[in-house]
Amino acid sequence: NPQLQLQFFITLYGQSEHLMVVRDVTRLQLLEQMRKDFVANVSHELRTPLTVITGYLETLLDNVDQINPRWLRPMQQMQQQAGRMQNLLNDLLMLARLEATEYPSDNQPVAVDLLLLSIRADAQALSGERQHRISLEADPHLKLKGSESELRSAFSNLVFNAVKYTPDEGEIQIRWWGNEQGGHLSVQDSGIGIEPRHISRLTERFYRVDASRASDTGGTGLGLAIVKHVLLRHHGRLDVISTVGQGSTFTCHFPHNQLVQRNAPNSRD
Ligand code: ADP
Repeated sequence: NPQLQLQFFITLYGQSEHLMVVRDVTRLQLLEQMRKDFVANVSHELRTPLTVITGYLETLLDNVDQINPRWLRPMQQMQQQAGRMQNLLNDLLMLARLEATEYPSDNQPVAVDLLLLSIRADAQALSGERQHRISLEADPHLKLKGSESELRSAFSNLVFNAVKYTPDEGEIQIRWWGNEQGGHLSVQDSGIGIEPRHISRLTERFYRVDASRASDTGGTGLGLAIVKHVLLRHHGRLDVISTVGQGSTFTCHFPHNQLVQRNAPNSRD
């Protein structure tokens, strides 16, 4: 009987009254764990058949001249949708992995400047003919303790979003710097922007401002949920400032104890 899981105590101390509510969440936690395990297992099990399907489709489409022209377009659509499903499974597995443990898989000083250099190259490739101008300013002496693969996943989600939601030839600025408050990484775009009422919900799983537009971009709706989890594990937090029609700035803030500062070599040395 689930009601047995809730217990209320009222305690009176002298003149003042205190109400103490003790709630047994054992069952809730068990259900939550079952949900996490279920999502992780299903994602894992779906991966293999999907790999077979995409593999065969790729082989068939490599021999275009042997395909009945009527089937070409449907097959290309099948390939595109299978790709979306693969992205979705990868993101679900990533979230499941992040939820399985409390701490990052690693705690080494990560060279954020080099990481961002490689993410910028990937973003420029993603932009392709859309020709976004992506600039990068990063302090090479400031490192961030944590897991490089987790941080790559979080930062690339922010940079790829900037590309996805910014019109062709738009401007994207990536920055990494430190000050008295800690370390900060910002991704600023000149894109479509976000209405204020959506901002607090952006990191919810599958939350999308405009579902039809977002699905055109090939996103999964899980990117910012991954960012939130990775930042939490690295004691960071996310700030979003946005103006519709002008652009957005996503900034990650990290406390001093997550940073490793190497002093710049003295120019007279
Ligand atoms: P998606 O895979 O849909 O991009 P995300 O979790 O990464 O999912 O982002 C959630 C939603 O937030 C997106 O669908 C989009 O509506 C909005 N969004 C994220 N980044 C930006 C941005 N840079 N500019 C405008 N909207 C954004």
